[in-house]
Parts: sequence; structure tokens; C-alpha cells
Amino acid sequence: MDGELTLTSMKDKSVVDTFAADTLVWTAGVAASPVARASSFPVDERGRITGSATLQILNEEGEAIEGAWTAGDVAAIPDLTGAGPGGFCVPNAQHALRQAKVLAKNLFSVRYGSGEIQQYKHESLGTVAGLGMYKGVGNPLGVKLKGFPAWVAHRGYHGMAIPTRADRPGGRRMGRRDALRPRLHPYSRPRTAARSVPRRSKQKKDAAK
Ligand SMILES: Cc1cc2nc3c(=O)[nH]c(=O)nc-3n(C[C@H](O)[C@H](O)[C@H](O)COP(=O)(O)OP(=O)(O)OC[C@H]3O[C@@H](n4cnc5c(N)ncnc54)[C@H](O)[C@@H]3O)c2cc1C
Repeated sequence: MDGELTLTSMKDKSVVDTFAADTLVWTAGVAASPVARASSFPVDERGRITGSATLQILNEEGEAIEGAWTAGDVAAIPDLTGAGPGGFCVPNAQHALRQAKVLAKNLFSVRYGSGEIQQYKHESLGTVAGLGMYKGVGNPLGVKLKGFPAWVAHRGYHGMAIPTRADRPGGRRMGRRDALRPRLHPYSRPRTAARSVPRRSKQKKDAAK
């Protein structure tokens, strides 16, 4: 970067172009993992495994294949709300997480014969996105937000979706408060994780010497 942007082809890693720019807008789409095409299951034109609303994999005749299930980015699951482009759920975490829960329940139903196999259906709650610190855009529950309120909605919603701290006793509130903590720099977490020895425990070790 440093005011100079270099575009590199991901095909052969060759440099395609270099030009002066301070802002980079990434508009790459989301694609299904090539694992789907490499499998023996039927895939659609976008390389997604063809699935039903019950998350069962469908054969070329549109019949459920016994014991074969799919969910998430790699799956073409009908969007029963009718909102999805082309009639299918978009590849995002909102769908992937919720489909995983329905899939687990369906597997349990089939394995232990308890309850009916459910269809996956989820009405989108809207979209929120952060644009750096303290700024954001969104339309949660259809309410148009921008600036600081949108940033709070973005950090709050995504913070609550992270299970790590929430799974600890008394940690749920902590996880939410942490998500909103303004002093957090977007890159502080990856930097901390990248350190081979956590700073505090290293200091303790040094002090013990
Ligand atoms: C930069 C970026 C930003 C995003 N932001 C948002 C957002 O704000 N909101 C939102 O809702 N969604 C967002 N998404 C989309 C979201 O991350 C995905 O929709 C979601 O993670 C899909 O979950 P999944 O479990 O289907 O797939 P993944 O999370 O991709 O999980 C698939 C797993 O399979 C593993 N795997 C792959 N191949 C193999 C193999 N051969 N053997 C074993 N394991 C394998 C992978 O390592 C990975 O861990 C974003 C995606 C990207 C890339």
C-alpha cells in the first residue's frame, strides 16, 4: 500500500496493475469451497451442493439422498421466505449458524426417531456493517442507521454472535461489553493472537525468574 496499490492475479500471482490509491474497496464475491465440486454430490451452476429446505442433499432427480446432509456456504438451500436471490439462501453466517442448528436437530430426529424433520426458514433481521472505528451502516429490523448508532449495532450484534466468552460462566455479559469497548482497535485481536507468548503470562514468567 503506502499510497501505491498493486493488483495481483490470484491465478498465477503475476502483477496485473499498479496505481496510486489510498482507499481499497474489496468487491470479491463469495464462492462455495471447491470441495463441493470435488465431491460426488450434485452441484448447481455456482458449485454449491444441491440441498432441500430440510438440508438433505438432493440427487439429479430432486430426491433426498439417504444419510446425506448439507448446510452453510457450500450448500444451495431454498430460501422459503422468498427473499434470497434465485430463490436460495445467500452465503452468510446468519444462515450458516441457523442451518447448523436445524441440521443438528434433524440428524437427532432421524437417528433417534424423535420429532419431525424440520424445514429451514429464516427471515433476515437486516444487515449491519462497520466502517472502521465508530462508524457504520445498517438496517437492523428495517430501521435505517448510519454513523455511531450503526457502529454500536454492528459491534453489539456481532459480539453477541461470538460464542467464545459467552460460553464461560458469567461471560455472556462480558462478551457483549467487550464487543462495544471503543478502545479496541480492529487489529488488536489478531496481533495479540499472533504473539507466541501472551504478554501478561510472559511478564509473570519474567518476574518469577
Ligand atoms: C471477509 C468476510 C467477511 C464476512 N462477513 C460476514 C458478515 O459480516 N456477516 C455474515 O453473516 N457473514 C459474513 N461472511 C460470510 C460468513 O463468514 C460465511 O457465510 C460463514 O462462515 C459460512 O459458514 P460455513 O460453516 O458454511 O463455512 P466456513 O465458515 O467457511 O467453514 C468451513 C470450514 O471447512 C473447512 N474445510 C474446508 N475444506 C476442508 C476439507 N477439505 N477438509 C476439512 N475441512 C475443510 C474450512 O477450513 C472451514 O473451517 C463473511 C465472509 C468473509 C470471507
